Amino acid sequence: MAPDRLPTGIAAVDRLLGGGLETDSLTEIYGEGGSGKTLFCLQVAYRVARENRWVFYVDTEGVSVDRLRAVAGADLDRILKRFLLSTPKDLDEEGRAVATADALAREGKRPVGLIVVDSGTAYYRLSLSGDDEDDARRTLVVAVADLVATALEAHLPVLFTNQVWRSVREGTLEPLGGSFLNHAAKTILRFDRLPGDRRRVVLVKHRSLPEGSAEFRITPTGLD
Ligand code: ATP
Ligand code: MG
Repeated sequence: MAPDRLPTGIAAVDRLLGGGLETDSLTEIYGEGGSGKTLFCLQVAYRVARENRWVFYVDTEGVSVDRLRAVAGADLDRILKRFLLSTPKDLDEEGRAVATADALAREGKRPVGLIVVDSGTAYYRLSLSGDDEDDARRTLVVAVADLVATALEAHLPVLFTNQVWRSVREGTLEPLGGSFLNHAAKTILRFDRLPGDRRRVVLVKHRSLPEGSAEFRITPTGLD
């Protein structure tokens, strides 16, 4: 089956992506804190749930219901009926939450429209340079590989957001998780902070579209 597109509803982003997020593969978004990654995930998830399709949402920040309220407004209760939300407290719990979402998506009993793993590298980051760094890397690799396989098997878009580290030598912000994650993602977007409520989204990697960028604004109820 050829990939389909899931429109994000943010016109400039949909143009950049040739119509929206692709099914059958993983889309990585990386960018500094406050660049809008979470808001973007919630907004896309809201659109999916509104159409009565399920969203499997793994939220390592534990903020999604409050922030979803801002996006969904009076729709919140109805939307939450289509959300399978997990808020893991460490990387092992995150790995299990991803495995559960994968299994349910593949099982195919519910109409699933999207899997989101928001701040998927937040716990991984905490383990860096510690005794358990290797274990943590293994957990992350298993989770991401499983997500890639599920995207294909269940014909779904998977959104995975990633935090950044600052390369002092290059003076750039680089995604965490190393080259493995960047290979696993078919599409990579970088979110940049611009002055005020403006943000830029840069298409860093896509298998068929040219590199490019678009701008949006953060508003109280989402991205515009
Ligand atoms: P992080 O890497 O820290 O998770 P992010 O890229 O997910 O950051 P968002 O949380 O989407 O960024 O933040 C986008 C904007 O939303 C920020 O500019 C901030 O001003 C605003 N914002 C952040 N937290 C809240 C909140 N709890 N309620 C309302 N607005 C918020
Ligand atoms: Mg976030």
